[in-house]
Amino acid sequence: MPRIAIISDIHGNLHALCAVMEDVQAEMCSEVVCLGDVVGYCAYPRECLDYIRSLNCHVVKGNHDEEVAREDFCRMNAVARAALKWTREQLDEDQLNWLSRLQYQRVVSSLFTIVHSSLDFPKAWNYIFNANDAKAHFMRQFSPLCFHGHTHDPKVFTCTRDYQVGEYVDFLGDMYEHGRAEFRLEEGIKYFINVGSVGQPRDRDNRACYAVYDTDTRTVTIKRVPYDIEAAQQAILAVGLPEYLAERLANGC
Ligand code: ZN
Repeated sequence: MPRIAIISDIHGNLHALCAVMEDVQAEMCSEVVCLGDVVGYCAYPRECLDYIRSLNCHVVKGNHDEEVAREDFCRMNAVARAALKWTREQLDEDQLNWLSRLQYQRVVSSLFTIVHSSLDFPKAWNYIFNANDAKAHFMRQFSPLCFHGHTHDPKVFTCTRDYQVGEYVDFLGDMYEHGRAEFRLEEGIKYFINVGSVGQPRDRDNRACYAVYDTDTRTVTIKRVPYDIEAAQQAILAVGLPEYLAERLANGC
C-alpha cells in the first residue's frame, strides 16, 4: 500500500468529505484510514457514515461516535449536545451499532497506529495541543508512526530515542500558503501526527484538512482542500442545528 489517505473528524460534513475524497483520488491513494468523529455538528451524519462504511477501511472511534451511540451526551457542551441529539434521531439501529462497535485504537499493518485522541488512555479523549501534552502518549506509542485527530488542528509531534518530545512546525507555512506541505519521516524518530479535520477545521483555515502517507518514500503530506462551505452552512440551518455550527465553518475555528 504505497499511498494512504488519513482522514479524521468529518462530523457529518458531506460537502467537505466529497471534496476530500475527490482529492484523495487525484493523489492516487490506494487506501483510506479514518480516525473517527464521523458524525456530530453538521447536517449529513447518515450519508457520511454510509460513505465511510462503503470504503471498508480501518476506522477508530471518536468521542462523538461514542456519545451518539450511547445516548449519553453529558460530557459535551450545550451546542455539541444539541447536535448529537439531532444526529441520533437521524441514525438507525444498524448505524448506531456500527459506531458503538468501533475500536479505540488500531495497528494498521506493521506500519502505523491510529487513535482518535491519544494512546495513553484513548477512552479519556485527552486533547493533545502541545509537546508537553504528547509526552504521556509517547510512552504508549510502540510503532514509529501514529496518526490522530480530535483537536481539529494539524500538528506534528516528535519523540527522539532519548525521549525528547517536540513539535515540528516547519510544514505550517507551506500548508497555509500553498494548501500542501510535505515532509520526510526520519529514522529513529517517532511521529505522532494530527491530520486536522475534514468537516470542521479549527486552525483558522476553513479548508478541509487531511494527510497522505507515502509508505515508499516515507513522506507525509498535509493537504488543505477547498469545498462549498456555503452549501454546508445552508444544510445546517435548514435542519435546525445551532447557527453557531454554520458560522464556525466559515471562520475555521
Ligand atoms: Zn471531532
